[in-house]
Amino acid sequence: MSARTPGPFTVGEMVRQTIRVEEPERTAALVLVEPGRVRQAEATAALFAAAPDLLARLKVRVKDCPCCGDPDFPTELMCDECRTDLAVIAKAEVRA
Ligand SMILES: [Zn+2]
Repeated sequence: MSARTPGPFTVGEMVRQTIRVEEPERTAALVLVEPGRVRQAEATAALFAAAPDLLARLKVRVKDCPCCGDPDFPTELMCDECRTDLAVIAKAEVRA
């Protein structure tokens, strides 16, 4: 089970040099806006907000891959794409 909150995440307004990444009932994160780097902070907040959707799509891609279709399948039998994507999924998920 993932330890993250469920989202969905949206990008909020910039307030006092931070951009909020919000969930319906709470603030999930604050992205610090360094002087002269507003666009970079906005891009970071947008990536953060999109991350759950990206992760979900990546899991579907691995699940639907014809190499084995099972994340628990022995990794030496997976295609290179699934092996790489499972490492990305593991990086994104902190197992409780
Ligand atoms: Zn595969």
